[in-house]
Amino acid sequence: MTTVAAYAAPAAKAPLERTTIERRAVGEHDVLIDIRYVGICHSDIHQAREGWGEAIFPMVPGHEIAGIVAEVGPGVTRYAVGDRVGVGCLVDSCRVCENCRAGREQYCTGGNVLTYNGVGKDGEPTYGGYAQTVVVDENFVLRIPEGIGLDEAAPLLCAGITTYSPLRHWNAGPGKKVAVIGLGGLGHMAVKLAHALGAEVTVLSQSLRKKDDGLRLGAQHYYATSDPATFEDLAGGFDLIVSTVAAPLDLDAYLGLLKTGGVLANVGAPEEPVRLNLFSLLNHGRVLAGSMIGGIAETQEMLDFCAAHGVGAEIELISADQINEAYERVLASDVRYRFVIDNATI
Ligand code: NAP
Ligand code: ZN
Ligand code: ZN
Repeated sequence: MTTVAAYAAPAAKAPLERTTIERRAVGEHDVLIDIRYVGICHSDIHQAREGWGEAIFPMVPGHEIAGIVAEVGPGVTRYAVGDRVGVGCLVDSCRVCENCRAGREQYCTGGNVLTYNGVGKDGEPTYGGYAQTVVVDENFVLRIPEGIGLDEAAPLLCAGITTYSPLRHWNAGPGKKVAVIGLGGLGHMAVKLAHALGAEVTVLSQSLRKKDDGLRLGAQHYYATSDPATFEDLAGGFDLIVSTVAAPLDLDAYLGLLKTGGVLANVGAPEEPVRLNLFSLLNHGRVLAGSMIGGIAETQEMLDFCAAHGVGAEIELISADQINEAYERVLASDVRYRFVIDNATI
């Protein structure tokens, strides 16, 4: 075991503070990663404040991890010291259930292990990337291709894969009209990725404040959802809508923007249930779908896609002592477009 510095929430809703945690010794198939950067995902805030229910404290959040391999176990075959690597939301799974065998470890029915706020196979709580290092089984480590900076790559490990997966699943591409609700961490990645996939992209944001950014990131159109005319102008217009909103939405209004047979793929994870009039689906055979991050192989595919298309996150680099302030800014939708912690400051 090694003691390393980290930032942790000591209890639900408490501010994060500097502390130390123990990392396990590097096992046969483990990789020790010297963490350089970690993104702040809205999910970190939901969990640190117990917005999704009971959580494990102290909590070291962080599942958008990018760093350099510092040590490998004797059985490791895929990584070597010095490699550029990442870790996302998962650090283990049962590996034998139908979903694991199909590369959908995020839907493991035998019990997967979250990067933090989880319990490892050793029975110990897991601690995430707001720390100097992490030890992870090589099967849950991703390779960050050359050509993407580690800082702009970190958010790809959650925001990137969470939006790439439904865009691919629901065939975003040339000839498809795709709308993205919410231009935050996930939303700005959805815009970049849908654009790189060849779709015609529209941003549906609460206001027009970030319109210039949205167009620069790859959207062709940008509308304010605070303006009721938006819902009339765009009625029945989209093949696919990806919702990244962290709060309950008026789903009926957004479903009305889909073409016949269109899909609203929701990735936002609000703390409260939403209401739905099922006629919004019956009308025009519309589909409401959900999607949770992505599997390990698909995450690697996404990283390679990003490298090939020059896609990285647009980040605001912060020092660790600014984490609590950054949380408040995310909650106020004042993020452009992902806060990333410089782990050298932990
Ligand atoms: P974020 O950076 O805060 O972005 C969310 C965006 O939603 C905001 O920037 C804002 O964009 C919009 N928004 C916020 N409040 C709203 C409201 N009341 N009504 C309408 N729009 C609102 O958060 P994030 O990190 O992208 O995460 C978004 C959600 O996805 C969170 O709930 C998170 O837990 C969840 N998540 C899910 C998965 C998954 O696997 N499914 C993975 C990661 C995160 P505008 O200012 O443009 O309106
Ligand atoms: Zn996340
Ligand atoms: Zn499984």
